[in-house]
Amino acid sequence: MSDVVVIGAGPAGVVAALRAAELGARTELLARSEFGGMAANDGPVPVRTLAHASRLLRDAEQLGRYGVTVSEPLLDYSRLLTRVREVVEDVRSHSSVRKQIGSLGVKVREQSGTVRFLDAHTVETRGGLRLQAEKFIICTGGISRRLPIPGFELTSTHSDAWGLTSVPPSMLVVGGGATGVQVASIFNAFGTRTQLFEAGPRILATEDEDVAAAASRAFRESGIVVRENFGTIESFEKTPAGIRMNFSKDGKPDSAEAALVVVAVGWVADSAGLNLAAAGVELNQRKFVKVDEYLRTSAPHIFAAGDITGRLMLVPQGVQAGFVAATNAVAGPTMPLGEEVTTTGSFTEPEYAQTGLSEAKARATHDIVTAVVHFDSTTRTIIDGRTFGFCKLIADRKTAKILGCHVIGERAVDIAEVAAIAIAAGMRVDELARIPLAFPTYAGILVNVAVSAARQLDLKVGWQAREE
Ligand SMILES: Cc1cc2nc3c(=O)[nH]c(=O)nc-3n(C[C@H](O)[C@H](O)[C@H](O)COP(=O)(O)OP(=O)(O)OC[C@H]3O[C@@H](n4cnc5c(N)ncnc54)[C@H](O)[C@@H]3O)c2cc1C
Repeated sequence: MSDVVVIGAGPAGVVAALRAAELGARTELLARSEFGGMAANDGPVPVRTLAHASRLLRDAEQLGRYGVTVSEPLLDYSRLLTRVREVVEDVRSHSSVRKQIGSLGVKVREQSGTVRFLDAHTVETRGGLRLQAEKFIICTGGISRRLPIPGFELTSTHSDAWGLTSVPPSMLVVGGGATGVQVASIFNAFGTRTQLFEAGPRILATEDEDVAAAASRAFRESGIVVRENFGTIESFEKTPAGIRMNFSKDGKPDSAEAALVVVAVGWVADSAGLNLAAAGVELNQRKFVKVDEYLRTSAPHIFAAGDITGRLMLVPQGVQAGFVAATNAVAGPTMPLGEEVTTTGSFTEPEYAQTGLSEAKARATHDIVTAVVHFDSTTRTIIDGRTFGFCKLIADRKTAKILGCHVIGERAVDIAEVAAIAIAAGMRVDELARIPLAFPTYAGILVNVAVSAARQLDLKVGWQAREE
């Protein structure tokens, strides 16, 4: 019998296994297929590689402007997929965590298939191998939400990109959240005629309103047809050229057709095959595994971490939760999951990101000031010809502490990361304004926006923003 069995080898599971072994537990890690889970094999790593290719195509458009003459770039999709596979393999083989796990003696069982509970202390792999343990940590992640709509089986998810042999001539993307906009942005850059459908009033519903509006404008200008508030889907049906989506708005029927329909309308727990009832593990109202602040499920010896718990579904949060769950599983419930500063965003064209409190949340809980600096007023963006976008800083009027930051434009995520560190350090706007960040950089915009916020608060910053 093991001390700990971890089910699922994505970021949460891998770190959970590492931590459990570090604390001295005899640990087994069960991967349904390859080590690394969805993150390494089907999510951020491969999708970011496609995004890099779309970025290269976009950058190539600038060559003439900077005096470089080359012939028109052409995308060979099957070569791109070969590159995706190389990157995935490279990332996997260079994983330092994999080496650490090995050196700590964790038994990694790849290709275990869908693992299911037989009782509270026993699981079984697809091949019939039965494993018993004192403690379990469930890290089985999530899957794309399916809609109970006639013809839904004709639609695709982002994962189907890996099975395409060429770039589709046209695509409908349903869902204007982080995954949907990424798919739309990438394939639009590859030359696919792309329509993005969002049932809500705006795309990027969880982002700042100004950021979402700017992203929507930029997507439209780049050729994506953005249809917000489009109505309700009635059905999907096959046509000679692809798939038709039938929908209606205010009782008026409408339709749209494309070679491919990608649906990205949410992410649900991958718990169906686990037979959780046999272990006494309950789901919450959203159908994710119910956990307390120590990531303990309703069965006190079973913990859960990562997307399966339905919290912020991102790699860094999965890693953090895996660490916390394993610590509590081995050492007893001593470490609650903290509320760290979080950065979210996407590598679309344009990029967008936010960190800390959104303006809307900050306004509801604090008396705030906001400052905005547009990208077209900073040196680096002008040098690079990337002047679209803005950075918005949110600070508490009384304490001058930075509460949040929204960015849209080139390297938005990197800029927001720097702001995240300032927030985590509890910095005031005038303190950030005094840091001599390197010139000319994208992150340098934070100094300008901090100066602007400090001025509104009548705080001295000691020196002027260098680009004024
Ligand atoms: C298209 C896309 C892009 C993304 N981009 C980003 C990004 O840029 N940055 C970011 O931080 N996050 C991104 N994410 C989110 C990120 O990938 C997830 O939050 C993260 O992978 C969650 O880690 P996890 O360990 O909880 O689960 P996963 O990575 O999903 O791993 C869980 C593993 O468990 C396996 N499993 C499931 N059920 C069983 C079972 N019964 N038995 C055995 N194994 C099982 C699954 O097959 C999977 O391999 C993206 C997601 C998608 C879909």
